[in-house]
Amino acid sequence: MHKFAVIFLAAYFTVSLVASDWHYPKELPNGVLSDDEDWGGICSSGKRQSPVDLAVDASVRGEFNSFIFHNYDAPMKNPNVINNGHSIQISTVPGPISIAGGGLNGNYIFDQMHFHWASEHTINGGRYALELHMVHHDKRYDTIQRAAQEKNGVAVLGILFHVTKDPNPVVEKILENSHRVFESSGTNTTYKDNLLLSEILPKNKETYFRYEGSLTTPGCGEAVVWTVFNQSLPLSVEQLERFKSVHDDSGHELKHNYRHIQPLNSRSLIYVPGHGYTENFGVSTKLISIPLMMVMSLIALMGFSL
Ligand SMILES: [Zn+2]
Repeated sequence: MHKFAVIFLAAYFTVSLVASDWHYPKELPNGVLSDDEDWGGICSSGKRQSPVDLAVDASVRGEFNSFIFHNYDAPMKNPNVINNGHSIQISTVPGPISIAGGGLNGNYIFDQMHFHWASEHTINGGRYALELHMVHHDKRYDTIQRAAQEKNGVAVLGILFHVTKDPNPVVEKILENSHRVFESSGTNTTYKDNLLLSEILPKNKETYFRYEGSLTTPGCGEAVVWTVFNQSLPLSVEQLERFKSVHDDSGHELKHNYRHIQPLNSRSLIYVPGHGYTENFGVSTKLISIPLMMVMSLIALMGFSL
């Protein structure tokens, strides 16, 4: 009975949306990867896959309305942590928490969040220590499984973490609530503390990258509107190491669980600089215009006509 309950929960809460018959390439003791990410299907043949390198030089500038975070500051309802063999995932009963704005077409309901170590997206070729994915589905579809079959049916917020000397207190709380499932794939536990998504968002929510891509695990459905915030959050090396002690479904430590960079192909990568960019632009215009005005005044004083 207990086993059936675990299987049911795993099926209900998993994001990969397929049977877990796949794995990340393992790193051998000499640093070489054991094999390629040969996941087949659209993972191999798709032209709009994720993650990608978020290169500012390859991006076009964009401007969208601000995000609206509904109930991000309210404790998550019955949060449940599962080790799905590929990550640590925290799920809730979909409904109360959602996002809109930020150039999204409508309202997207929060389903779950999970971590990748190291980061899946890179910024200008640089990889971060950790990446958190907050997964939402378009409310016009009943479930995330259904939404994952539609273009832009899923909206994921990506939050990057960099290493510092001090531990991150929110990450600490998440690790403490999750450690019971670390050593056994397929197990789940109740998240006992209050979990507020607002506590784990960067302060700057106006500067981000936007592109249309896919789930980064099989079946790699090309259904995702991606937002990856530019501002990263801190965590300590010790905290990062604890993520690496999560066991996969073959009982080994999951040393990394990021998919390799996929080609952008013909897609647009949009960089939304937010308010900072507008201010900088204003300053630089002013700096250029002052010397120009001085030259014009001198010309006028010297009696030349333009
Ligand atoms: Zn993910």
